[in-house]
Amino acid sequence: MSRKVIWGIIAIMSLSLIVVGVIQFFWIKRSVDLEEKNFDDKVIFALNNVKERLIGDAQERLQRDVEEIKFQNTIVDKLKQEIISGDKSTWPQNHRNLDAGSLAFLFNADHFLETIDKDKLHKYIAKELKEQKINIKYEYGVFSNDIKDYIIINGNYVAAAVGDTSKSSNVAAINPLQMAEYRMPLFANEISEPGHLNLNFPGKTRFLWSSFIPILLTSSFFTGLILFCFSYTIYIIFRQKKVSEMKTDFINNMTHEFKTPIATISLASDSILSPGIMENTDKIKRFIGIIKQENARMLNQVEKVLQMAQIEKNDLNLKISGIHLHELIEEAIINAELKVQAKGGSIETVFDAKKDEIEGDFTHISNIINNLLDNAEKYTPEKPQIIVQTKNVKKGIEISVSDNGIGMSKESQKLIFEKFYRVHTGNVHDVKGFGLGLSYVKAMVEAHGGKVSVQSELGKGSNFTIFLPEKFSNQNKV
Ligand code: ADP
Repeated sequence: MSRKVIWGIIAIMSLSLIVVGVIQFFWIKRSVDLEEKNFDDKVIFALNNVKERLIGDAQERLQRDVEEIKFQNTIVDKLKQEIISGDKSTWPQNHRNLDAGSLAFLFNADHFLETIDKDKLHKYIAKELKEQKINIKYEYGVFSNDIKDYIIINGNYVAAAVGDTSKSSNVAAINPLQMAEYRMPLFANEISEPGHLNLNFPGKTRFLWSSFIPILLTSSFFTGLILFCFSYTIYIIFRQKKVSEMKTDFINNMTHEFKTPIATISLASDSILSPGIMENTDKIKRFIGIIKQENARMLNQVEKVLQMAQIEKNDLNLKISGIHLHELIEEAIINAELKVQAKGGSIETVFDAKKDEIEGDFTHISNIINNLLDNAEKYTPEKPQIIVQTKNVKKGIEISVSDNGIGMSKESQKLIFEKFYRVHTGNVHDVKGFGLGLSYVKAMVEAHGGKVSVQSELGKGSNFTIFLPEKFSNQNKV
């Protein structure tokens, strides 16, 4: 899969995720809007019912008043008869006459507003909202257009007098009511609207969204999960891509590494077979020597690849015994020293460890040291100054191999322990290798329960440090 295709997929997937997210948001928003509309309808229905009840009450009271006045009028009529007959003693002191004035007062809509019973109103609102299954906190108030103020707030009469200080205690309640969403005109007719009932639900938005929170959370969670899986997949694709590139490099490298000895062996065998050589045993011996040497070189390469395969299969088969590290290092240095000296360099040892015995597999630990020394020599083009140092640390020994070579960048340092990785810059490619050495070192050190790390600076040199525990335990895994 080319880089372009991968980036194309990333773009499409990201776009799809964004679109799905936006659609989900709008879908939920639409549901909340619908829910709100439903809520509004229920509240308006409840308020209408409250209004009807108030009107019913007012009519009843009016009826009673009219009846009473009518009744008083009949008494007055009767009294008038009595007056005519001369007896004034039974005249009522305060009766209302059903004249135009008192009728106008009774039928005055503002008067209806004043006669609203606060307790009844409180009960009506509570009952109607309950019937509509609206169970959230609310505030309400009856506003009079005549006095331009509230006359009832949340079940209490408000002192009507202007400038009354007791009113200030209700200011806080009035303010939210001024912005109340629900407003139901009371006792309104074509000519006038004496007032209205305001109703407000402070926690309405929260209430409406609350039923969608589980859906919102679930959908966000799964969108997040998709995002995570997608990112992880992309990460794996890039990694695989890199591994496959490195494997191609490795195959090219290996072919190259084998080509030289094969060509040399072929040349040597041809030479042996050529006439005139057959009789010359010295020459035959030399050619056979070359064949053997090249063969050993190939065997060494194959061995490295096989070791890696073994590690991959977790089939290590370590032969654990007591090892004197200083002896092991000295031996490894003998092998590496020739090449170092040929470049005009030297290998120095600083054995600070008082106790150099550990438990481990001799061959593998030798290979580890050999690989590090090999690299120190390979990646130091001129006069290698290699220092091998040991010291005792808590529960084990630390060995460091430092050189004054080409060093490497921070980015490379993170990758060198990966299989097949080789630094691709500058003249590094002149140096032969499979990119397996350090991954082997890491796998083996970890199999012994140890740790490996590197400090390096481009152009200055590198320092590899390995820690090996004193005691080998079976829990140490690859
Ligand atoms: P290789 O077979 O390429 O040497 P290694 O796994 O041993 O494989 O090393 C991986 C890469 O790390 C090398 O290709 C090289 O770029 C870098 N490297 C290893 N050791 C050193 C060192 N001492 N100095 C500089 N670069 C090094």
